Amino acid sequence: MKEDHPLSVRSGPSTTNGDSPTAGNDRVTTRRDFLKCLIGFVPVVGLPILGLNLGALAATEKGREYDPAEHWYGMGIDVGLCIGCGRCVEACKEENNVPRDPYFFRTWVERYIKTPDGKMIVDSPNGGMNAFPPAGVSEQEILRTFYLPKLCNHCEKPPCVQVCPVGATFNTKDGVVLVDESYCIGCRYCIQACPYGARYLHPEKRVADKCTFCYHRITKGLRPACVEVCPTSARIFGETRRASTPLWRFVRTHEIHVLKPHLRTSPKVYYSDLDSEVR
Ligand code: SF4
Ligand code: SF4
Repeated sequence: MKEDHPLSVRSGPSTTNGDSPTAGNDRVTTRRDFLKCLIGFVPVVGLPILGLNLGALAATEKGREYDPAEHWYGMGIDVGLCIGCGRCVEACKEENNVPRDPYFFRTWVERYIKTPDGKMIVDSPNGGMNAFPPAGVSEQEILRTFYLPKLCNHCEKPPCVQVCPVGATFNTKDGVVLVDESYCIGCRYCIQACPYGARYLHPEKRVADKCTFCYHRITKGLRPACVEVCPTSARIFGETRRASTPLWRFVRTHEIHVLKPHLRTSPKVYYSDLDSEVR
């Protein structure tokens, strides 16, 4: 069941369900301004640039006003298709001005090598952005190897939202978890609370940062940068609840798992063929 986290009723510190206890018109205006600013961001990955309508709260989506209530987004990862090329990591950094240092990522790729005796070797040099060097393990020692792209899971019940003391991180109506930089005080509570390691403190801005599903793009009907550049279509972005969309089809035609399901965060990044050691 979709949780209702309307932006219009959020004005103060988060409660346990991520909603604000009180309504506040000042805060409503600020949140609307924040979203307006976010969706007005111009893409830089060499992808189509659409005209912007900053006069409206939302950008236009295929010629009409964007309505978050009409969407519920998620991402599928077809693990068998990922070749670990790292183009998604590079595109994300470029698109979202993520610092180039190897500690800061909105998305990254991990390599898993399972040996015949059940051992799992995991590495992610520079987040997989420069692809992967030879593993240093002989063919005979490899039972299975695969690459696993990771990012914020845009959880339906996100602990990061619950712990934020100033309501800077919040769920949108279209199923995305965002951070309002103008409210973030850089306390790191959300970074510690995220069980997926999906957040970092931006070294210059001193605010929490993470994947937004490229909100400035998807509200214009574009796909996230990582999805756009993936040469094997290992990443599938879109509507989780609208029948016959690529993501809807992917989820229904594969055996799907989410990361750390026992934590009951209801992640919305869906993996196919996920080894039990990774879940
Ligand atoms: Fe929050 Fe982490 Fe879930 Fe993303 S993956 S919504 S940062 S708890
Ligand atoms: Fe895997 Fe696609 Fe990313 Fe390459 S671009 S690492 S194939 S998800």
